[in-house]
Amino acid sequence: MKIAIYPGSFDPVTNGHLDIIRRAEKLCDKLIVAVAVNSSKEPLFNTEERIEMLKKCCSNMEWIEIKSFKGLLVNFCKENGISIIIRGLRATADYEYEYAISLMNKKLASDIETIFLMADTEYSFVSSRIVKEAASYHGDISNLVPDFIIPRLHEKFQTVK
Ligand code: ADP
Repeated sequence: MKIAIYPGSFDPVTNGHLDIIRRAEKLCDKLIVAVAVNSSKEPLFNTEERIEMLKKCCSNMEWIEIKSFKGLLVNFCKENGISIIIRGLRATADYEYEYAISLMNKKLASDIETIFLMADTEYSFVSSRIVKEAASYHGDISNLVPDFIIPRLHEKFQTVK
């Protein structure tokens, strides 16, 4: 069984992430969408909230499992029999960082392959950060995130402000 992982912050999950998740189905038998628990990054949504939102989006996709992980991604891959890392590539800005990470992962675990999927033109500018910024100023974020996430974002910014 070919198990792949799609790691990220998903703070919150966007329609760009969901496009990559759907397209990754063709590349593996099972996809683990893994929420990175990164102590150096202060997320807007805590780990449980990010997992819950992803589960809600992927409830009808039975080839997907949602998990969280801490520490080195390749160690998590080895522990879970994962042989493919899926990453999404937006503009050239993503490229340098993603290339370096993929080389480092290859050095740490040569049998794990990173596969990059190019962002759909419709979502190539969409990032969790840009969505949060727009939401914090009451900007229109419809079609960028699933509908149920819009009030969640507005709620957060009401309590944060
Ligand atoms: P973000 O930059 O949105 O905070 P994450 O850390 O959650 O992203 O990203 C996880 C992975 O998803 C990364 O490989 C990132 O490049 C990719 N990704 C994020 N947004 C998009 C998008 N709109 N289209 C394609 N890939 C994306």
